[in-house]
Amino acid sequence: MRNIIKNALIMVVIVACFMRCCAKKEINNPIDAHPYSFQHVKKFLNTADTYGIDTKEVGRNIDQVLEYPLNQNLLGIYIPSDRHIVINSSITRDSITLKKTLYHELGHLYGLKHDSIGIMTTYLTPQEIHKKYCPLEGGSDEVWKKDVDNLMKEIKRKQDSINLVK
Ligand SMILES: [Zn+2]
Repeated sequence: MRNIIKNALIMVVIVACFMRCCAKKEINNPIDAHPYSFQHVKKFLNTADTYGIDTKEVGRNIDQVLEYPLNQNLLGIYIPSDRHIVINSSITRDSITLKKTLYHELGHLYGLKHDSIGIMTTYLTPQEIHKKYCPLEGGSDEVWKKDVDNLMKEIKRKQDSINLVK
């Protein structure tokens, strides 16, 4: 009987350790979002972490990613006062447009302004986004990776400069 209890205790410890190890591998998503958006936000946070970016900044600024039928020219918007990002519900099933829009709004969250190239470009239609990033429509995943790399470097630079002022 004592052995059974002992073995059970050992199992509990092993499982607990295993769960801790797994939990450490990935950054926990601090915000509430639909699974379509959630996967991209999570990927953004994991990538940002590898650049040494303070990922807690996201949870400090927003609570939610909402989907809402916005004006068709507006794919997404970051509203700091309401602590959320709103995504146009017309793009939630368009993974490429959705990820570009989320990364763009998260760029704003980190204080980035609009740019003429890369992810911080504004007013791109879903068709234009696909032309850039979708391999089936003349775009490429390499371009996406390069743009993400630039975005992460910009965010890191921004964060470092803010920390210097502090
Ligand atoms: Zn913008």
